[in-house]
Amino acid sequence: MPPSPYTSLYVHVPFCNRKCDYCAFYSLGHADPDLRRRYLDRLRDEFDANAGLCAPLDSIFIGGGTPTALAPGEMAELLHAIRTTFTLAPDCEWSSEANPESLTPEMAAVLAEGGVNRVSVGVQSFIPHERQAIGRRGSLDRLADSLDCLRRRHVDNLNLDLMFLLPGQTPDSFARSLRQALDLHPTHLSAYALTIEEHSILARRHPHQPDDELFVTFWDTADRLLATAGLQRYEISNFALPGRRCRHNDDIWHGATYLGCGPSATSFDGLTRFTQPHSLNAWLHAEPPERDELPPPQRACEILAFGMRTLQGWNFDDFTARTGFDALDLRGNQLRQLRQRGLITLSDTAAAPTRDGLLFNDDLLIELI
Ligand code: SF4
Repeated sequence: MPPSPYTSLYVHVPFCNRKCDYCAFYSLGHADPDLRRRYLDRLRDEFDANAGLCAPLDSIFIGGGTPTALAPGEMAELLHAIRTTFTLAPDCEWSSEANPESLTPEMAAVLAEGGVNRVSVGVQSFIPHERQAIGRRGSLDRLADSLDCLRRRHVDNLNLDLMFLLPGQTPDSFARSLRQALDLHPTHLSAYALTIEEHSILARRHPHQPDDELFVTFWDTADRLLATAGLQRYEISNFALPGRRCRHNDDIWHGATYLGCGPSATSFDGLTRFTQPHSLNAWLHAEPPERDELPPPQRACEILAFGMRTLQGWNFDDFTARTGFDALDLRGNQLRQLRQRGLITLSDTAAAPTRDGLLFNDDLLIELI
């Protein structure tokens, strides 16, 4: 199949208010206004160069880093550049990540007026010593007001990010964080296990000791408590109210194309992945992206595996429409073996992970890719 137009846009903002001790994302803890100016100018060039390759956008996701580490005027400029360069589908989902400390009333107004209709806030934990243990600074004192401020401006699709397996965290303290999150009435909640990157500051003071039993206890705690508020797990780490799944991520897990702008951002045209340089300096100098090319059948297998991150899995007609391949021709034997192991359900028309298939999703990836 030829490369397809991009249907989603991801923008990487490589700045944070400060670096967290566990962070593995590309971002700078400090950035002076001049550097941010150069970033915005180069981003505008990148938008202009690629807008012609895009279909009307079904979704936009501004991530990072911490997008709200930009000054409100800079954020307004970024949103304006997106609106005026790309064509947006009428019901385009437009998300921005935010940090509780920089999601001020002024920033909330800028996001809402600029077109953002979904905001994802990185909380990680409501327990102060757990936040401190991973070097997460700032307070959560005004989080509830910030969310109300967004809702008053009709941005009511709100995600909170939490983490588990934090140093010093117990299933009980995780349950307290989940309950405090539910008190804020999010439409979506992400609950990620902390992974300690080898070279992070956290790795030096908290050597990683994987504990599968504890992992499953945290996992079940999230399922049980979030279900009481109607939030159902629909992907390994994501829960949503009905109709409030993150369209951007859901589409990408099912092989949709996306344009990635900004340092370290990845694009996917249906066949090839392109990743922009991981250093801001190299990206500012327009160094070429890395290309990840695969033969089409192999890429289709990868798309098959990624869709199995979601509870929905794959309807095989949709898979064929997306990739041009028949899933059972490509990986029929492996799918049948996974069904025998209890990791997926499988019929002539669809495959989907079971609870164990989501929990031990790496096993599916290994078989299917
Ligand atoms: S806010 Fe997120 S991107 Fe920024 S340093 Fe912390 S973990 Fe990394």
